[in-house]
Amino acid sequence: MKTTKKRPAFWGKASGCEAAFFCDFHVHTSFSADSEQSPYMVCLRAVQLGLTKVGFSDHLSLYPDDPNFGLLDRFYTSYVETIERCRKEFNNKLEILMGVEVDYHPEKARDLSSFLKDHPFDYVLVSVHHVNGSSLLDKQFYTTRSPELGVRQFVKTLQHAATFPGMDVLAHLDWIKRGWRRYWTWLPYDPQILLRAGLERVLEGIIEQGVVLEINTSGLRRGVEEPFPGKVILSRYREMGGTRCTLGSDAHRTDELGDGIREGFDLARSLGLDVSTPLASSPVERKGARPVQKGKV
Ligand SMILES: [Zn+2]
Ligand SMILES: [Zn+2]
Repeated sequence: MKTTKKRPAFWGKASGCEAAFFCDFHVHTSFSADSEQSPYMVCLRAVQLGLTKVGFSDHLSLYPDDPNFGLLDRFYTSYVETIERCRKEFNNKLEILMGVEVDYHPEKARDLSSFLKDHPFDYVLVSVHHVNGSSLLDKQFYTTRSPELGVRQFVKTLQHAATFPGMDVLAHLDWIKRGWRRYWTWLPYDPQILLRAGLERVLEGIIEQGVVLEINTSGLRRGVEEPFPGKVILSRYREMGGTRCTLGSDAHRTDELGDGIREGFDLARSLGLDVSTPLASSPVERKGARPVQKGKV
């Protein structure tokens, strides 16, 4: 993979999006507990980089043990107003989407759905950060269970997430590989283990529902040497009939904005995947999905 920092603003036609595709749809701001960057500074940096669209995706967590608990649900109005101000400020220079990254817990699915019904976003990313109450970033998750059990529980949670009706995008699908590579060192990370453990059913579910699969490029800077997910899983997705992908850097700081997007784009196109915005523009009927918010872009 190329490591050049020079990122052209124009990469030719990308199916499902307009010709100039250099967009980042997974970006955090100070509306998340783990970021201090202001939405304004993100937009400023995005324009400097030549991004054509940016999508904010701050965390929505209804899980009390998560640091993001009680943030976006409480500050929703302020989030909307702040993004609206950015849209006015950067009018004609940048298209801005108001997304959200849902911290998915099976037992919170009903509450999450009802929150999203009353609080519209342009698009909804769904992520599994916790499995059976443990964070996938905590060493404890890996030291208190065997890889067999951990993988089984992780995949089961993803299978549940894949049925969530309000989802537009499934984000950083194989996020477990970050901790796996660090703590289950006696068992080299192998995406085939995840696929055999039931990840294929997750892919099948999102293809059926018309959900977009995210290529989260943060893996390239977080020691896993490939995006979440990587080539093996993306190839399987394509073989199974999946076509739609979106790209996000998962930036928590302005210097991470747009990071790895070019590499992710090249990877997607080399596998015959379409790179598009996260908006559910597919004609596929969404089973029980809420109406798509068109946004003001
Ligand atoms: Zn996440
Ligand atoms: Zn994120």
